[in-house]
Amino acid sequence: MELHLSHLSKTYSNGVQALNDVSITISNGMFGLLGPNGAGKSTLMRTIATLQEADTGEARLGDIDLFSEPIELRKILGYLPQSFGVYPKMNAYDLLHYMGELKGISNKKERDRIVASALELTNLYDVRFKEVAGYSGGMKQRFGIAQLLLNKPKLIIVDEPTAGLDPAERQRFLNVLREIGTDNIVIFSTHIVDDVKELCTDMAIMNGGEILLHNTPKKAVSSIEGCIWGANVLRDELERYEEQFSVISSGFNDDNSLFVRVFATEQPAEDFEAKQPNLEDAYFVALKQLEPHEPEGKIYEEEG
Ligand code: ADP
Repeated sequence: MELHLSHLSKTYSNGVQALNDVSITISNGMFGLLGPNGAGKSTLMRTIATLQEADTGEARLGDIDLFSEPIELRKILGYLPQSFGVYPKMNAYDLLHYMGELKGISNKKERDRIVASALELTNLYDVRFKEVAGYSGGMKQRFGIAQLLLNKPKLIIVDEPTAGLDPAERQRFLNVLREIGTDNIVIFSTHIVDDVKELCTDMAIMNGGEILLHNTPKKAVSSIEGCIWGANVLRDELERYEEQFSVISSGFNDDNSLFVRVFATEQPAEDFEAKQPNLEDAYFVALKQLEPHEPEGKIYEEEG
């Protein structure tokens, strides 16, 4: 199944344009929507989940027109919002049975099987009789996945699920997503580049309500092969480098000296050495909409 979005735009009543002509097709597998805070990710996710309307544009999942047949979509949708709210004082097992009943799984035996499988997939089986309200942040997020699996969704939308999780919990959560993302569409949003690198077969980078790049993580990295250069710089030189070169990122080396990574089609200056590109480079190149820096003197050569 494929999700087709075409020309989606949305401006909130305060004048903020959160979606600006978004068109994209997403196929089965794990899709990462990567972008900084305020990029428009949640707006896009809520629009796809039919929880809010776009001003213009169309969206289809297979044969379903999302905006005229939202009920049809919701039957095969699993949605985990950014904050899932307050949990009642119930254990995971009872709560999933209750939610399963609400979702129309009336046969107790069938519900038992589905609940057990959701608990196992999310690694919560051993703690199924503990109150969900007492779960850690990571366990709550995995419970969120367990509840959305009950109606065997074809489209799963998870909004910023790893925000606020510690590294071990984040890893456990990503492993759960990895398990469920094989024969349906899983869209998850994040501002963490590593989430996408570790997990996604496809991804888009979003900012200012626009899709800036749509590619596989692998191709996004290989497309900037040969264009990433690094140099060690002194602290008071950083500003000059930023003015002179297309600086992607800067930071500290292990010995507390400063480095810059620069985007350029040829060695930008003598003190730069070629670096292997990574997904973070691709992210910042897309985000900053960097043009490769022309090496010093090249312009004059061409003109002369
Ligand atoms: P992200 O999920 O990438 O952080 P959002 O979709 O939440 O981005 O927000 C995109 C932009 O729209 C932001 O500038 C945000 O402040 C604005 N925005 C989001 N929701 C609303 C709303 N209900 N009313 C007005 N502005 C909103």
